[in-house]
Amino acid sequence: MNAFYDILIVGAGHAGAQAAIALRQKKFEGTIGLVGNEKYPPYERPPLSKEYLAGEKPFDRILLRPESFWVEREIDLLTGRRVSKLDPVGKTVTLASDDEIGYGKLIWATGGSPRMLDCPGSQARNIHAVRSRADVDKIMAALPAVNKVVVVGGGYIGLEAAAVLTKLGKQITVVESLDRVLSRVAGEALSRFFEAEHRSHGVTIELDATVAGFETGEDGIASAVLLGDGRRLEADMFVVGIGIIPETGPLVAAGAATGNGVDVDQHCRTSLEDVYAIGDCAAHSNAFAEGAMIRLESVQNANDQAKVAAMDILGEDAEYDAVPWFWSNQYDLKLQTVGLSTGHDSYVVRGDPASRKFSVIYYRDGKVVALDCVNATKDYVQGRKAVVEGLNLDKDELVNTEIPIKEVGIH
Ligand code: ADP
Repeated sequence: MNAFYDILIVGAGHAGAQAAIALRQKKFEGTIGLVGNEKYPPYERPPLSKEYLAGEKPFDRILLRPESFWVEREIDLLTGRRVSKLDPVGKTVTLASDDEIGYGKLIWATGGSPRMLDCPGSQARNIHAVRSRADVDKIMAALPAVNKVVVVGGGYIGLEAAAVLTKLGKQITVVESLDRVLSRVAGEALSRFFEAEHRSHGVTIELDATVAGFETGEDGIASAVLLGDGRRLEADMFVVGIGIIPETGPLVAAGAATGNGVDVDQHCRTSLEDVYAIGDCAAHSNAFAEGAMIRLESVQNANDQAKVAAMDILGEDAEYDAVPWFWSNQYDLKLQTVGLSTGHDSYVVRGDPASRKFSVIYYRDGKVVALDCVNATKDYVQGRKAVVEGLNLDKDELVNTEIPIKEVGIH
């Protein structure tokens, strides 16, 4: 570890790793330090709730780059270290070990920590998050002795975990506090489709269900979750997927503008000089959300913001205006999303959900703003243009699956 890096990147997830990769691709020759609080080299996070949990992909197949890559590119991987303080005037960070590292430019790419429940019994040892390799390793190690699992949260993490654990023969109940699954990210039609799919695979889904606490024994193991309506659901394991809390503590303490994450401009600069923020923790004005300040928790956002920050540091002109895209795999369903459906005022379903191949096309003010495509990659690929250009696609033609989206009339 050096005492100074020309560029110090804090957070070794998708965003941090991609920033380092982009800098070297662009022939940056200065020193780069990449600090990560996990003990592993950068790895892909999406498979954690999918192929990795299923045991279908070992860890070395989800590494973002082979370990030799970081050595060859002279990117100092400072794993197992946590930054606890930032001095934006002296341009140093302090590690939990009290070591100080100076920087020329700082890229904050810390993502977030999993939001956990705060209720009686919520510290039990068999209540797990699904955010890091360590979380999932703990789940996998315990699984052989587990039959029943309660998953708290019906977002993508919760539903993907439910799908994998069902395939592994476990009996799953999903507890969701709102009246439909995926409500934060998708429209009603998609929510109801995924709800029905999970039910058909034997998953019990409890909607409008709040968690009041856990029944725990002296061994620190929870044996049941208590719901707000007084019901009690027994299980051997509990998995919590209720979103993340952006890791912004040191930036907040250093006076950076923050709100829902660290505020950044179109170049991914924070309000602190020479400090950038990218990825899940960065709140930015997004053109696909009518300019609203939002955080996007996706690989796309992490990678694209990383490239913008790297280019800005190198004096190249770059602004973040990338089209949001995302995917989720559950059972044999491949969902691909382009655009942001938040704030849509109407939608059209193209194809029959019963055929398990269909798309939902969302509109706002007469313009297509997003598509959710289930087993319909062609729609996803062809629909992207409509999102980027805000086209008003003819709804009558759109529901006709004989007409490819690229040939649908425009108003
Ligand atoms: P993730 O990325 O972890 O899936 P999301 O925010 O997309 O996060 O989804 C989390 C889901 O958990 C949402 O559907 C939300 O309504 C639900 N949720 C949040 N808090 C609770 C809670 N205390 N109990 C049950 N469900 C919750």
